[in-house]
Amino acid sequence: MKALDELTFDNRFARLGDAFSTHVLPEPLDEPRLVVASKAAMALLDLDPAVAETSVFAELFGGHKLWAEAEPRAMVYSGHQFGGYTPQLGDGRGLLLGEVYNEAGEHWDLHLKGAGMTPYSRMGDGRAVLRSSIREFLASEALHALGIPTSRALCVIGSSTPVWREKQERGAMVLRLAHSHIRFGHFEYFYYTKKPEQQAELAEHVLNLHYPECREQPEPYLAMFREIVERNAEMIAKWQAYGFCHGVMNTDNMSILGITFDFGPFAFLDDFDAHFICNHSDHEGRYSFSNQVPIGQWNLSALAQALTPFISVDALKEALGLYLPLYQAHYLDLMRRRLGLTTAEDADQQLVERLLKLMQNSGVDYTLFLRHLGDEPAALAVARLRDDFVDLAGFDAWAEQYKPRVARDGDYTQEQRRERMHAVNPLYILRNYLAQNAIAAAESGDYSEVRRLHDVLTRPFEEQAGMEQYAQRPPDWGKHLEISCSS
Ligand code: AMP
Ligand code: MG
Repeated sequence: MKALDELTFDNRFARLGDAFSTHVLPEPLDEPRLVVASKAAMALLDLDPAVAETSVFAELFGGHKLWAEAEPRAMVYSGHQFGGYTPQLGDGRGLLLGEVYNEAGEHWDLHLKGAGMTPYSRMGDGRAVLRSSIREFLASEALHALGIPTSRALCVIGSSTPVWREKQERGAMVLRLAHSHIRFGHFEYFYYTKKPEQQAELAEHVLNLHYPECREQPEPYLAMFREIVERNAEMIAKWQAYGFCHGVMNTDNMSILGITFDFGPFAFLDDFDAHFICNHSDHEGRYSFSNQVPIGQWNLSALAQALTPFISVDALKEALGLYLPLYQAHYLDLMRRRLGLTTAEDADQQLVERLLKLMQNSGVDYTLFLRHLGDEPAALAVARLRDDFVDLAGFDAWAEQYKPRVARDGDYTQEQRRERMHAVNPLYILRNYLAQNAIAAAESGDYSEVRRLHDVLTRPFEEQAGMEQYAQRPPDWGKHLEISCSS
């Protein structure tokens, strides 16, 4: 266990120099205070959880203090936003404070979001509000607990600093952790600004630090791209299987590590809805729930274009071709497990699709249906869940396919079935209305609800005594909340 002043820095990205990032100091928040901290994320830095309660913790992550070895940098990148290319983006309100390595030898980027203006702030104020910082914190830690690759969040620091959005709000900072903050948009930036030397330096950096095993391959860059394709296919399969809608899948928000990154107006589905659009400024539904799958491939193609100086077009196309089949395989594997199946049959895909269509038509709660399907033996469970459906004949027909499929799957006790299914079907997910309740309390100075919700979501598969209210369908007011894109 370490104290705060015992962190060890090794700022590898900063050493790439001024073509890649600019030195900027954080702009402190007024009256910084701890809103919530993640003990699990603190453990990644070997930090003693007790230090979260100290004033120096709020000062460090509220922009007042800095380690002598930290080298805060704003990174430059670009990217495709809603399909169109924006030539220059960059850390407009976040800073890479430095890279810390832990006792296990892992490097973690410390990235402070909401840390003030940078050369890349464009029209923005460099700030993040409490509401969006809490949402990013909760989503990061909830996705991680579900087993979905994601950046992590160490803490949220609140303040009295006024920040203007649609109305006056308060500034906050969230400290994000990831092995790297390099995005697809980093490669696009150096490709489109025609800086081949820096482009090569960036590629070497990523290969050496994040994909060293690809060095062993005959074409290391191609092997690295293939790995990025594979990781994205797996990550998006998990989003789709768990009903996570990212909301802003621009290429500047896509990590080269294949982790969920840069949360906007994200949402977990309540009722299953393939066409769900969580971002209210996404008028065409480019990033709707079901579109996330083809958009994942579109984004990888944008990265492939930026890698054409290193890899032949034919090889890039071949690697891109891996995406959909890999996605399908991961997705089907997860959905089989969510349905309690341990073997594979050809008709399973159709079984899943038919169920989703029925849920869609009847507005069935996606998470709770799958959770309760494991509560009892298949025949009893479907008989009880039937009431949720409007198309009863349709559901009965599905059940008549599901029950014999379960019987063919193997001979196991209900205890085994429940245990196996509950281990992949969460009881608690980060529903928008739950986040909203926690945010409303936090905005009036009460952080207990954010902390409790965070705690519940760190063990989503485990039934927790006294926490029934977190495992309910949303009340009417909480069903179709408009989540502001301003953050
Ligand atoms: P996002 O849509 O949050 O991924 O942000 C897109 C770009 O806008 C990034 O370059 C951000 O750094 C920048 N940005 C977003 N909000 C702000 C803000 N309040 N101040 C400065 N830059 C911002
Ligand atoms: Mg972004």
